[in-house]
Amino acid sequence: MNIIGIDIGGTNFRIGLVDENNNVLSFKKVPTSAVIKSTSVLEDISEYVEDFLKDTPFDALAIGFPATLGRERKKVLQAPNLRFMENLNVTDYLSKRLNVPVYAERDVTMAIYFDMAKYNIAASSITCAVYYGTGVGNAICINETPLVGKNGTAGELGHIPVIGDTTPCGCGNIGCIESLAGGKALRSILERFFPETPISDVFTHHGNSAQIQQFLNNMSIAAASEVNILDPDHLLIGGGVTNMTDFPKDRLKELIIKHSRKPYPAENLNIVFTEDEPAKSVIGAAIYARTRI
Ligand SMILES: [Zn+2]
Repeated sequence: MNIIGIDIGGTNFRIGLVDENNNVLSFKKVPTSAVIKSTSVLEDISEYVEDFLKDTPFDALAIGFPATLGRERKKVLQAPNLRFMENLNVTDYLSKRLNVPVYAERDVTMAIYFDMAKYNIAASSITCAVYYGTGVGNAICINETPLVGKNGTAGELGHIPVIGDTTPCGCGNIGCIESLAGGKALRSILERFFPETPISDVFTHHGNSAQIQQFLNNMSIAAASEVNILDPDHLLIGGGVTNMTDFPKDRLKELIIKHSRKPYPAENLNIVFTEDEPAKSVIGAAIYARTRI
């Protein structure tokens, strides 16, 4: 069974045809603006898929968004970087047009399905993932099911409020933890304190600085909050920030355990650092789709 996986971001659009053994048969990464060229957004995506496939048969399509989705997983509710996707009935349109089942999910859900497969984590567990990218992404999978919530907006760890913080967040609220613990925060530390250092070298040269240690502590507070609520079997940690050169994984782990309740969940907390790879999001989407078909 071949599945098309799509990952649509504010900057890049990734598409891949994935077989039942998770081999990527073909893959493309292009600017999102090269796919979405008009106001007929879903038509543009369909045309791009048809052109990518060139008549190769496929059995389903799954698409991941950096966004909140409605509980039914048909529509994007709020996507600060993809405003043009909001409130369109993505799955019904694409399914009718392409004549296959179509599934929509948050990009972080696609990522956790990929990581659970890669690191041999049984889906029949409580697994949560915290992905430190530009913001702080979060996915929770309980007994083979992603936690969705009443409105579809469960797992928004990046938007837990921080006492006393007044930074405006992309979500519209003030003082969300991702403003202190995500890639944007790292970039502003760099601009303010280490303007001469390229961002790729920040942990190599300044990993022990007070500013970076504070940043790591902020990261750990986000993850430990979830650990203390869910007592998960597995905590996956990943994203662009933790995959940077010389990122101090041991220090972050130590801080997460420090902020976790004693003796449990702290004592036997299983933390897995995940590595990125170019087709992760499209393979994850295909794995997710297979659980739904
Ligand atoms: Zn927020």
